[in-house]
Amino acid sequence: MAGPAQTTSVTHLIAIKIEKCSHFDGCSVIKVAHWQTTIKSLFIDLHGERENVRLEAKCSTDVRPDSELFEIDPELTIGDLKGFYPVKSLKLQCVTATPDETSSTKGVPIATTLNAFNILLAGTKVHPVKKTCHNRKDELYNDVVEMCVSRDLKLHKSAVKDEGSYIIQVLTNALWYITNQHQTINDTSLRFKDVVPVPEPFEKFQGYNEFKRKKLKAQPLTQDGLHSHSEALFSLLNKPIFSSSWFEFKAVVEALATCLCRYKEYLQKQLTSQSERQSADHPPRTVGSDISIEHRAKSVFVKEKYLVFDQAVAQCPDTNVPIFFDENNTLVNTVSKEPTES
Ligand SMILES: [Zn+2]
Repeated sequence: MAGPAQTTSVTHLIAIKIEKCSHFDGCSVIKVAHWQTTIKSLFIDLHGERENVRLEAKCSTDVRPDSELFEIDPELTIGDLKGFYPVKSLKLQCVTATPDETSSTKGVPIATTLNAFNILLAGTKVHPVKKTCHNRKDELYNDVVEMCVSRDLKLHKSAVKDEGSYIIQVLTNALWYITNQHQTINDTSLRFKDVVPVPEPFEKFQGYNEFKRKKLKAQPLTQDGLHSHSEALFSLLNKPIFSSSWFEFKAVVEALATCLCRYKEYLQKQLTSQSERQSADHPPRTVGSDISIEHRAKSVFVKEKYLVFDQAVAQCPDTNVPIFFDENNTLVNTVSKEPTES
């Protein structure tokens, strides 16, 4: 006969959280479990038995959501766990096998093995994680994370904290830098062939920095700023992950880096031609909405058809008096119409 001490140890209280899946809405319960119950059967009790699913099980010695989780074998019993350590909670997740895997189970054993291997590996890989939102830039960060999740970009669990958040941060910084300037870049790309518009996957990252509401002036893009962000993006692409599982995303990030780099080169060219113009003796200037003044060097040779105009200019007594060029009566071939001088 079992004594009282034994009867209290055959059942255990345990907190169970099952993540939402396509079969089940998810739940958080505290259950009494017999020591011989396996984790898998606890899961099946709540979730129901399904084919082509795999159970990912983790346990913790705490019930707080941020407590450290350990991966465990779903075949372990509650007694095994409790005997090993005072485990208090379980986090269980149903993982549906990919259609690829289920359809290739017959006939192609190698493919099946490979897929199973991939799934095993996938179990140790996770998406980048969001951060606590304190401001608009954090929001942008989290939306970049969401973009990665929607593209199913994963990292090894051990790399998600450092490498994962670093990649997201570099992307966020660059997108934050241009968030109010998409229109400027895109408009310029229509006029200058070397400038490229903001790549389509990043279109949605516009207007995060609401400078108007903050009564601030939008900061113009600078060569230095563009250069450092594009360099940071380009250096991300050297990371091995971009040559393996993130390969398709590489082109997307590269397009953004190129966009920033090209706009920087455009600004550089603009600055060069501007300083050339300004270093001229008489820099052209705008004097009205449709009027500008541009000085031209004297030429030794005047084309015949401009002779009348040239003469008019030469005979003008006062440099403050403008002479209007009108091709109907200032060109030589229409000289019969009496050229007008001002
Ligand atoms: Zn399920």
